[in-house]
Amino acid sequence: MALMGQMMSAPLLISSIIKHAARYYGSTEIVSRRTEGDLHRYTYRDCELRARKLAQALGALGVKQGERVGTLAWNGYRHLEIYYGVSGMGAVCHTVNPRLFPEQIAYIVNHAEDGYVFFDLTFLPLVEGVAPHCPNVRGWVAMTDRAHMPAESKVPLLCYEELLDAQDGNYEWPQFDENLASSLCYTSGTTGNPKGALYSHRSTVLHSYASAMPDALGCSASDVILPVVPMFHVNAWGLPYSVPLVGAKLVLPGPKLDGASLYELFEQEKVTFSAGVPTVWLGLLQHMQANQLKFSTFRRTVIGGSAAPPAMIRALEALDVEVIHAWGMTEMSPLGTASKLLAKHHDLPDAERHKIQEKQGRVIYGVDMKIVDGEGKELPWDGKAFGDLLVRGPWIIDRYFRNDASPLVDGWFPTGDVATIDADGFMQITDRSKDVIKSGGEWISSIDIENVAAAHPAVHMAACISAYHPKWDERPLLVVVKKPGAEVSREELLQFFEGKVAKWWIPDDVAFVTEIPLTATGKMQKLRLREQFKDYKLPTA
Ligand code: ADP
Repeated sequence: MALMGQMMSAPLLISSIIKHAARYYGSTEIVSRRTEGDLHRYTYRDCELRARKLAQALGALGVKQGERVGTLAWNGYRHLEIYYGVSGMGAVCHTVNPRLFPEQIAYIVNHAEDGYVFFDLTFLPLVEGVAPHCPNVRGWVAMTDRAHMPAESKVPLLCYEELLDAQDGNYEWPQFDENLASSLCYTSGTTGNPKGALYSHRSTVLHSYASAMPDALGCSASDVILPVVPMFHVNAWGLPYSVPLVGAKLVLPGPKLDGASLYELFEQEKVTFSAGVPTVWLGLLQHMQANQLKFSTFRRTVIGGSAAPPAMIRALEALDVEVIHAWGMTEMSPLGTASKLLAKHHDLPDAERHKIQEKQGRVIYGVDMKIVDGEGKELPWDGKAFGDLLVRGPWIIDRYFRNDASPLVDGWFPTGDVATIDADGFMQITDRSKDVIKSGGEWISSIDIENVAAAHPAVHMAACISAYHPKWDERPLLVVVKKPGAEVSREELLQFFEGKVAKWWIPDDVAFVTEIPLTATGKMQKLRLREQFKDYKLPTA
């Protein structure tokens, strides 16, 4: 007979995280900028009590285990209570991205079969628009108190604080199988309909443990952590779980994500660590440069979601902020890799060290990765060969919600990204496979081109897309938004590439625009750009 280990068997449940924070870091603060306008402060002990009241309230509303409960909300303490109250009672917390088109939101709410939807007051007009198209939602809950409830609304509303006030908090978190579903996120679906990634308690707790480690996000009880990445974007990269898990002070910025508001909150609450997509840091850096500001406590940030331009990494470093470049996706909970340096890298000259930091980095334990060629044959880890990136592990998707077709290839999940891996295991994304530029059968990395362009002092934002070329099939076209008041010509910009990339990688043309469209998660929307420039005639054509 097999000899079994003789240790206690405790299921890995999301409720255990907030219980731990309340018991061992009970007086640690959670500070939130509210949609009502003010700053709200309370503690992990308060948060857990209110999450228990919410779990009771959900029971009273008839929410069953496994049922989906939607949110349309900013980063704030009530949203955090929903994360724990909903998952903790055994239902599924379904965060919906309010920046999507209303039709997509209705599609997602219906596909998920959300029984209730909780929303911040900012999104009342959105709720009034989509509610008639979501007949299965039994109630729309405004996340506010009676005094701030809208005087009138086209949709019957429930009041969040009233739901909580009706409960006494006398509630024990239920114990159940750790493999039960806990939360649901949809990919933004830039092509086709959005698809749902359904996480389990087990996958979420494992991901929280792993992502809190020093070489990943590196969260500690001595940190003050402000997730800029929204709680509706892949669970704010897991920070609402990993921050209470380590017991750090949590600062939630609400709807105010502009440079000035963020800077004020960073300084006032003594934030040490943050995380967000590159476009957010662009806004913050611009505000700081314009007003010659410095950070007093902020020392480390994670940048991910799209490639962090080297110029941005350096600008933050000049402000004494260490940048950890990270990569992941909705289907991966989301964290896969992070770019923390190895001991042998510390003495490298700056330029060489930067090259390593610019990579998306090494896997965290739990994630396994490989790159393969067109035939599925594994490619060498030499930092040069690039191919399709595949991953597997306990917090990586097995199949999409309510879709029986397996997305896996021999047990591996194809990420849709193209990457290199070097001998030390540092992975670098060269492109999303649909963004790569195929010039005469050879591939050009659009990210490399954008990184060079972003380092030009007159460039605010740059996207590199393919444009039709009769001889080469595709050639790179650089689409540029200039910094306010800055001037640069097409010729000057193209000259800037000389010596920085292979000659044949230099774009054939530059198109200056006033704005580059962004996706609902703040990434440059290259699909839209390609449509916009689909009849563009290159001067070289
Ligand atoms: P979406 O933003 O489309 O909703 P995700 O947030 O899941 O979906 O996006 C995942 C994708 O974002 C990855 O497959 C990859 O292409 C891109 N990405 C994420 N992090 C990085 C990074 N650090 N560098 C380059 N690309 C990244």
